[in-house]
Order: sequence, then C-alpha cells, then structure tokens
Amino acid sequence: MTDISHSATARRLLIVVPCYNEESVLRETHSRLDVLSKSLSEKYSDLWVGMLYVDDGSSDATWQIISDLSGKNPQAGGLRLAHNAGHQQALWAGLEWASQRVDAAISIDADLQDDVNAIPEMVEKWLGGADIVYGVRRDRPTDTFFKKHTAQLYYKLLRKLGGDVVYNHADYRLMSRRALSALMQYPERNVFLRGMVRLLGFNQEYVYYDRAPRFAGESKYPLRRMLAFAVDGITSFSVRPLLLITWLGIAITFCSFCAIVYALLSYAFGHVLPGWTSLLISVWFLGGAVLTSVGIIGIYVGKIYQEVKRRPRYFLADRVSPQGLSE
Ligand code: UDP
Ligand code: MG
Repeated sequence: MTDISHSATARRLLIVVPCYNEESVLRETHSRLDVLSKSLSEKYSDLWVGMLYVDDGSSDATWQIISDLSGKNPQAGGLRLAHNAGHQQALWAGLEWASQRVDAAISIDADLQDDVNAIPEMVEKWLGGADIVYGVRRDRPTDTFFKKHTAQLYYKLLRKLGGDVVYNHADYRLMSRRALSALMQYPERNVFLRGMVRLLGFNQEYVYYDRAPRFAGESKYPLRRMLAFAVDGITSFSVRPLLLITWLGIAITFCSFCAIVYALLSYAFGHVLPGWTSLLISVWFLGGAVLTSVGIIGIYVGKIYQEVKRRPRYFLADRVSPQGLSE
C-alpha cells in the first residue's frame, strides 16, 4: 500500500472513454469502472478518480445515458462531440480536456475488451514515476484468425517502415500530465495516437493483460475503416514508401536500358523479335508500377492538403464536468 496523503494536493486521475453508439455497453462499463475507482480511492487515500465519457456523435441513446450517469455519479462527466469525428479524434478531445484539469488520464475503449483490472497496476507505475504506461495484450485468443494475423503482419510492417509502435498495444494507456501536455503540442490533424505517444519519450512502462471479446454491441471498425486506419498509421509516420518508389523507379529504368540494348542488338544482327506478348506484359507492368507509385504519392499529398487546411479536430456540442473539476 502506497500512502500519498502527505502530498499537499490530492492527485486526480481521469479515465477517458470514447463512445460511439455504445448504449448497450455503457452502463455496465460505468459500473465496472466505478467499482474500480472506489477500490483505488480506498487504496490511495489521496487519489481522486473520475470518468469522462466522450460521445463521438452517436445516433443512439449514448448521450442520454452519459447525462444520466453524470447526474447520479459526482465523479462521472461527459463531452458530446457535434459529429462523428472518429475514435482517435474523440480520444484526443477527452485527453485534451484532461490535460488541462487532472494529473493523469487513462484511455480505454467503451466495450470492455481491455481488462479494467490492469488499471491498478498502471496507477502504481504512474505513482512510481512513470509518465506513460502502455496496456499490452498478452495474446489475442478472442480475435478471429484473420484479424489476429493481419494485425501481427501490420505491426511488423509498420516497424520495418520506421514507425515505432508498441507491439500488441492499442489505445489503452495511462499518461501523466506532462506527457499529455507534450502530446497536445503536436499540431497534426491526422492522428495516430499510439505512434505519436511513442515519440514523446519520458518514462515509459508496460502493463500486460488479456483481451476479452466485446462485451455487447458491434465493432465500430469494419474492414474498410481498419484498412483506412492502417494506411493512416503508415503514412503518418513514415516517408519510406516514397523512398521505395524512387528506388523501384531507378531499378526499372536500369532494366529497361538493358532491354533497349538487347532489342537494338537483336535488330542489328537480324533476329526478329517474335513476341508481342512480352512487350504487352512489360507495358502493363510498367503501367501498374507507375500507377501504384503515383497512388502512394497521392496519399501523402492528400495528407499535406488536410494538414495545411488546419481544420478544427472536433466541435463540442455539450458537456457535463465531473464534480470537482473546473469547466
Ligand atoms: N469509437 C468512437 N468513434 C468511432 C468509432 C469507434 O469513439 O467512430 C469508439 C468505440 O465506441 C469504442 C472504441 O472507439 O469505445 C473502439 O471501437 P471498437 O470497439 O468498435 O473497435 P474494435 O475494438 O473492434 O477495434
Ligand atoms: Mg472493441
């Protein structure tokens, strides 16, 4: 048992939960977080624990539930985004709010796939001096074969391309206030939090847990969104695909020189090239290579376009602060 009651002011910890159409899980999530926060407050006499639910423009009763929970529980509050800004932006909204009001924030998904029982260990590491504590999945027994393997492949690819991410870590983590304030200084609009947080440095620690199946409701990440997120992860952190294109271009140019020399020699010595098949194939191949390259460059150009617009990340439509935290 760690006693921090000697410190002059109580430490405040906020659990930030992004919620998009989560009416079927929210009450259960809250009751589990509530049990946890009570046991934490018992253990650490000088620790205040609150929850902030960020409604990411849900179309179901999510916001009503959040308002109701906030009315009944003094340490619960919520932010309501004006539209569906996406998981990462919703998380950003919550963390930004936390960065100005509390000493540390833990981000966790609403569906309870991440084991809340890892939180006490995170808190312990934080009180022991860590600024960032990553929740890392031990294994993925509940994921489908497809999701498990594509995810592993993706982490490896991302690493190879130079993006530093923690293997098997999603967005379940604790961040101290100074880590949060540092994060808030990143101006980019394309946020891939697990990569950005890694860049912050400070004292980083890990906590391991088992991932459970979704408690209720459906995944808000269909394949289409997962793919978009995956591409975002790579293009936000690595310019190596651009370099690869350049090398590919140089290699192909070299090959085509050889082919030209060969063709000229054959012509000079009277060999008639019999096949147009090979020609056709190379034309197709080059067309494909060029198009792919242009496409990849296009992705980066698109990102630059989005960044230079400097659009606001989200708008707040409504909010209820947990009691004791300023508006
Ligand atoms: N989420 C969100 N906005 C979105 C999509 C998802 O805030 O546009 C939230 C969702 O409510 C959940 C978390 O992000 O708390 C992760 O989503 P989900 O569990 O559906 O993803 P999965 O675990 O299937 O990858
Ligand atoms: Mg989930």
